[in-house]
Amino acid sequence: MTTHTITFLGGVESVTGSRFLLETDNYKLLVEAGMFQGLKELRLKNWEPFPIDPSTINAILITHAHLDHSGYLPRLVRDGFTGSIYLTHDTGKLVEIVLRDSARIQMEDAKYAEKKGYSKHEKPEALYDLQDAAKAISKLKTVDFHKEVEIAPNISAIFHRSGHILGSSIVEVNLDGKRVVFSGDLGRSQHPLLNPPDQFMSGAIDAVVMESTYGDRTHEDTTHLLAEVINRCVQRNGSILIPAFAVDRTEVILMMLKKLVNEKQIPNLPVFVDSPMALASLNVYKMAMDTGSLDIKQELFDSIKFDDPFNPGNLQGAETVEQSKALNNPSKSCIIISASGMGTGGRVVHHLENMLPHSEHAVVLIGYQAEGTRGRSLADGAKSVKMHGRQVSVFAEVIQIQGLSVHADADEVCAWLGTTKNLPGHTFIVHGEPSSSAAMAEKINQRLGWNTVVPRLNQKFYI
Ligand SMILES: [Zn+2]
Repeated sequence: MTTHTITFLGGVESVTGSRFLLETDNYKLLVEAGMFQGLKELRLKNWEPFPIDPSTINAILITHAHLDHSGYLPRLVRDGFTGSIYLTHDTGKLVEIVLRDSARIQMEDAKYAEKKGYSKHEKPEALYDLQDAAKAISKLKTVDFHKEVEIAPNISAIFHRSGHILGSSIVEVNLDGKRVVFSGDLGRSQHPLLNPPDQFMSGAIDAVVMESTYGDRTHEDTTHLLAEVINRCVQRNGSILIPAFAVDRTEVILMMLKKLVNEKQIPNLPVFVDSPMALASLNVYKMAMDTGSLDIKQELFDSIKFDDPFNPGNLQGAETVEQSKALNNPSKSCIIISASGMGTGGRVVHHLENMLPHSEHAVVLIGYQAEGTRGRSLADGAKSVKMHGRQVSVFAEVIQIQGLSVHADADEVCAWLGTTKNLPGHTFIVHGEPSSSAAMAEKINQRLGWNTVVPRLNQKFYI
């Protein structure tokens, strides 16, 4: 008899590095190929040899374009993976942007470290380069939502909408008779642009792999905090820096700022999107709206014909490095949205370096800040943070706004799971820091009476 297993190669005990391996006797299907981010011990895992030879993986499924779910693809391809990578159409478009940008950042960081001589390595290497990214991109196979795709005989997948970012999906896998559901990152019905997650699947399910980013929290509406910090900052002639994931967070923030401007809650300040990746993904979002993508809320289609939903009034893009540098330590109040969202890399690092030492400015943290990132240190009240090999003092106002998340909280997860009548064979809780995963596991157990398991790294289970 065939055995079916799942091995957790990442995305456990942490929110990053999602990598789940499904195996039968003669097939290896990897779900997610995420990059580890945050704590150094996690980042170092990106450099360890992959636990199985990548050339033995038959195919890969990706739930959405965020780096912690897709960012390791170029490395797998460099190390021998030759199969196809399945994902939805919009995820495909966004993954292209994300991987190219990631390769560029890896190469730039390696070069920068070499130039400044602060790397411990004589010749710092990039995890992967643009060529590796291009090779990975050539293996993408995009698929429709809701349609069953055959990946191999007796192995198929259906991508359902997860409402987290454009193209994001909940993936249902049929693994030679076993039905396994991966929640991916589960969105929320409050998303201003996207439809809410599709209903949880009906019928018998052998295993569910459930994310738990906010397993120990309940979201509250905190939009007013954003208006308040902007107004405070403008009064003292400062500017506002919002580190944001280039994909989706930028769009959501722009829509929110537009609403605040329209309601006259904040002045119509210049808003700069300083991230080529964010600008590119903004175009993908606009295209999805123009073409009536399944992901987008129906009611938005009419209004966007007359009004750009992403322009609060005075939106400007900074494409080039010169344009970006011109924004350094701005003398006139403005809002700068720049990636990455946790201050781990990209142009936002330079803005942080320039703005943090000045008390008139404000840094607004809006997304999840993983352990070990600069964003987390700032959120925790650090008086200085290390950047480009030196300590930078923090005098600017730093505020973290929690409720703007695009991850479901514990109550929302339970409500989503609870729509099924069937008890899954296994419920694995992943994608959360240990306390958060434990809280989610307990909540699901109490509310729904399901047995839950929080897997450890590299643990393997029969399903
Ligand atoms: Zn995500």
